[in-house]
Amino acid sequence: MTRAPDIPRPAGYPYGLMNDQGPAEQFGEALRAALLAGKFPNPNREGCPDEGLLKKIAAKRGALPVGHPTHVHIMQCSPCYALLESYRAHYLRRRRFAAAAAVLLVLAVVYIVYRERL
Ligand SMILES: [Zn+2]
Repeated sequence: MTRAPDIPRPAGYPYGLMNDQGPAEQFGEALRAALLAGKFPNPNREGCPDEGLLKKIAAKRGALPVGHPTHVHIMQCSPCYALLESYRAHYLRRRRFAAAAAVLLVLAVVYIVYRERL
C-alpha cells in the first residue's frame, strides 16, 4: 500500500482537523490577503479604473461580466482592491442598516395593529 504524498497545508490548519476550504477558496483567501497587504503595488495607478466604477462594482455583484479587464486589473492592483474592499464594507453596512430599519418598521406596524385590537 502506497502512502499519499504530503500535501502542504496553510498555517493555522493542523493535521487531523477538517478543513472546509478547498484549494480554490484557499487560493482566493491567500490572494486577498496578499492584495490587502500591498503585495501588488501600483504607485503610478497605471490602468486603474475610476472610483465611480469601483463603487458600482462594490454596490452590485454582476456589475461587470466575469473576466472583464477591470476585474482582472483589480486582482493585480493592491490600491484598487483596497478601495473596492472599503466600498464593499460601506455598502454592506448600508444594507445591514436598511435591513434593521425594515425589521423595526415591521415590528412597529405589528405592535400598532396588535394594540388597536385590544
Ligand atoms: Zn488599480
